[in-house]
Amino acid sequence: MTAPPNFFDEVSHYFDQAAAFTDYPPGLLDQIRGCNSIYRFDFPLRRQDGRIEVIRAWRVEHSHHKLPVKGGIRYAPEVYEEEVMALAALMTYKCAIVDVPYGGAKGGIRIDPKLYTAEELERVTRRYTHELAKKFFIGPGIDVPAPDYGTGEREMAWIADTYSALNPGQLDALACVTGKPVTQGGVRGRREATGRGLFFALREACSRKADMSALGLSTGLEGKTVVVQGLGNVGYHAAKFCREAGAVVVAIAEREGAIMSAKGLNEVDVFEHRRRTGSILDFAGAINIADTAAALEMDCDVLIPAALEGVFTAANAPRIKAKIILEGANGPTTPPADPIFRAKGTLVIPDIYANAGGVTVSYFEWVKNLSHVRFGRMSKRHEMANELSMLRTIEAATGKTFTDAERTQLAQGPDEEDLVNSGLEETMISAYQGLIETKESHPGVPDLRIAAFLNAIHKVARSYMELGIFP
Ligand code: NAD
Repeated sequence: MTAPPNFFDEVSHYFDQAAAFTDYPPGLLDQIRGCNSIYRFDFPLRRQDGRIEVIRAWRVEHSHHKLPVKGGIRYAPEVYEEEVMALAALMTYKCAIVDVPYGGAKGGIRIDPKLYTAEELERVTRRYTHELAKKFFIGPGIDVPAPDYGTGEREMAWIADTYSALNPGQLDALACVTGKPVTQGGVRGRREATGRGLFFALREACSRKADMSALGLSTGLEGKTVVVQGLGNVGYHAAKFCREAGAVVVAIAEREGAIMSAKGLNEVDVFEHRRRTGSILDFAGAINIADTAAALEMDCDVLIPAALEGVFTAANAPRIKAKIILEGANGPTTPPADPIFRAKGTLVIPDIYANAGGVTVSYFEWVKNLSHVRFGRMSKRHEMANELSMLRTIEAATGKTFTDAERTQLAQGPDEEDLVNSGLEETMISAYQGLIETKESHPGVPDLRIAAFLNAIHKVARSYMELGIFP
């Protein structure tokens, strides 16, 4: 009996579909598809009660066509090797699509972080970093981790500190990891970046009149109904930016159940309720949905999976009513579900483009760490002076005088966060145009996912062909 396809097989399946639209040599495609280095290791953890537990971990570097490689670290009890391989491969394609100069990588530690104390998690994180350092699987020019499912700023700060301790005097040491707290070399806007990027992707998709008409929708986000799965970093911020743009978040699904409200849910209040009570259920004014997966099948315009992979299968895809699926999570759509969505005409905005906001802003953080200066620090006052001089010229030409409030608003000069968000917006808009151009220039490409893979394959293949193959 053959084993069921694992997550890496699924990514390879999409890759092969896209590769069929190219005429690159099969050997080159094999080189792009496979993982360059896979490091699996076990290490001991002394638990608080004195027991010794063996922890299994991975770091996979999918593609060295550009260095450093980059990708998050996942802490989850069910992490397995092919999953980390798949996530590393998606990182390669994602970076290529948004023109971020990295190869892809991913890390995984097989633990349920909820079952460990903060002190134990710190020991796990530091030992993991040490194991990576021993084998040269981490470094500002080698391999740069970031947060993923189950990790965040706290873990990234521990990694930065451990790497710095192991490399005394290394000026660029902080660039060994991104997603750090702003106070420890992080960049403003990174925390929100993946969710904000998802919002830009959706806004771009919804601005295309022909595509919206085909779905029976109007252009713009105003009034569109949204269902979000997962109220973690990605889901929370995606909900926030969509709501602020006028969309109505009609349901939020978490592990323990889902809640719905036709009037709309505010993610801030829902998050606070879950923090306080330990559950998303019984939120004032909302209706409980005991079976959390049922929320995915609700009537809505936009469905945002933002938890884990493998959410849409041949079993539930026919029942999904959303007109647009915005993939916040990596790999939510399994290959058997994909043709079902295509046949229904669902617009799927694929993970390798849609959730690339995180790595885009991680790239800005890395650049900031290497340049050792906050974005905007050198130029803010200069730009304010230019803007004020422009206002004075307008006043002289029109005879109108701006109020102090108008003057303050019009002559601000950009802060770091403004510049980061502007760089992210530009990246997401131009990458979407890139996908559309790829689709239109390759007749027969059936959807945005295959266009996205194809776009990435062209860019990685070009690297190999222009740089040559050593030796
Ligand atoms: P997170 O740990 O902050 O949040 C995940 C949330 O999903 C948690 O609140 C968890 O309780 C919830 N969840 C788990 N199982 C669920 C279920 N069955 N139903 C509903 N909710 C469930 O993780 P995150 O960083 O938000 O990552 C989420 C997804 O986005 C992952 O697939 C990750 O690879 C992807 N992603 C994350 C980033 C990033 O910057 N953090 C970037 C790109 C992609």
